[in-house]
Amino acid sequence: MAEVKSAEFKSASGQALRDAKLQRSLEHVMEHFVDARASVIENDFGGESWDAMRERAAAIKQSTLDHLDYYLDLVDKNVRRNGGHVHFADDAAQANAIVLDIARRNGVKTVIKSKSMVSEEMGVNHVLERAGIEPVETDLGEYIIQLAGETPFHIIAPAMHKTRDEVSDLFRQWLKTAPTQDIKRLCEYARDALREKFAAADMGISGANFVVAETGSVCLVTNEGNGRMTTSAPRVHVALAGMEKIIPAWEDLALYLRLLPRSATGQRITSYNTFVGGPRAASDEDGPEEFHLVIVDNGRLNLLRDEVLREALRCIRCGACLNHCPVYRKVGGHAYGWVYSGPIGAIVTPPMTNMKAAKDLPYASTLCGTCRDVCPVKIDIPRLLLHLRHKIAEGSEDERGATWMERLFVERWGKAMRDRKSLEGQARLGRLLTKPLTRGGKIRKLPAPMVGGWTASRDFPAPAPRSFAQIWRDELAADVGRAPEPQE
Ligand code: SF4
Repeated sequence: MAEVKSAEFKSASGQALRDAKLQRSLEHVMEHFVDARASVIENDFGGESWDAMRERAAAIKQSTLDHLDYYLDLVDKNVRRNGGHVHFADDAAQANAIVLDIARRNGVKTVIKSKSMVSEEMGVNHVLERAGIEPVETDLGEYIIQLAGETPFHIIAPAMHKTRDEVSDLFRQWLKTAPTQDIKRLCEYARDALREKFAAADMGISGANFVVAETGSVCLVTNEGNGRMTTSAPRVHVALAGMEKIIPAWEDLALYLRLLPRSATGQRITSYNTFVGGPRAASDEDGPEEFHLVIVDNGRLNLLRDEVLREALRCIRCGACLNHCPVYRKVGGHAYGWVYSGPIGAIVTPPMTNMKAAKDLPYASTLCGTCRDVCPVKIDIPRLLLHLRHKIAEGSEDERGATWMERLFVERWGKAMRDRKSLEGQARLGRLLTKPLTRGGKIRKLPAPMVGGWTASRDFPAPAPRSFAQIWRDELAADVGRAPEPQE
């Protein structure tokens, strides 16, 4: 599985915030996505019918997840009927072993890949390379980050953080091309290099935006045509799909193909919608001789088993929640430390990888709710984040990410807030302890390990010399002619 660095979220976020170039490109690209989405939805549907479509899309996905065993069987049956093979993988290691086995049996030397987030989870490129097989990403953004040795920065725009100069430098280093700032020229360089790879590849690995259960078809949505080449040019095609990618019927696809591009990039329709129905039939002019669908769990069952988190599996990976998230828009994708970032990444990463290591992610949210409002499948992201925070604070031994000190602090705090006398006592103690640290009504540095983070970037207001309860009792209650409340 791809390396998980989510435990470094805080330091990685700090680094991203200090990177002025990154901040500029985040603001620029996110604004573009947000505006494009808003305008196409407004022009095409208006609020009400768009909302009704989201409602229907959410209901279809939810009902599929609630009957997933039935739909998995149906996919299996129909892919086999079409002449393909279906494999089920519990985790990334198993999925990699399946892919490697298919490659070895077919004497594969070069693999071309179209964009697949599951393949990123699996880290399949490293596995293939170690086995002496050359994997080549063919989505332009993925190709750039493969050359840079990085992970995707954004679900749909993996290289959005790279400037044209950086891309030119990468191409100069790896493709020996002349430096240029001309984006069209850079695309031509990539196209020339990839064309050879398309022609030479023995195997294509794709993702699957949707798997249609009633027909056993895989649907791919791309803007560059590389998905179509990957699935039709090589002798063998392997499609990797998370188990949540299933939708029941062909007619449901029409709904998702309207929601996905509008939510993702503000397009009415993506340039290429590719439907794969299995290996080449005798009457087909082209297409692969072998077709394999690998359906991957890799932690998804942890989400499915949790009645609240299950909803996250409705995600169609449009990226809209990332584009609208005030936290993602500042820290970017790499800070989240794994494959998925932004609000949906903060939800799926802990249960799919390691709750304790990724415990900071569910807190990386203001809970403003914009992610929920823009999600095309109506995932209640803030509710799921709160649920995860609860698990991290009070869940089982395996889930709990809070330290004993944090738990003790919160327990004491909770007790104090429920009892007036104790609250007043704690406030008196707080006033006493912070007095030596106070200058001009502000505390500039709190030394305590749990609260010190606050003053690392801003001042903390000093506690008032007298509490409101004291002022009320000593001065105000008599003025308004009421007996003081029995406090303290
Ligand atoms: S959670 Fe919703 S908005 Fe975010 S990527 Fe998934 S489908 Fe899109």
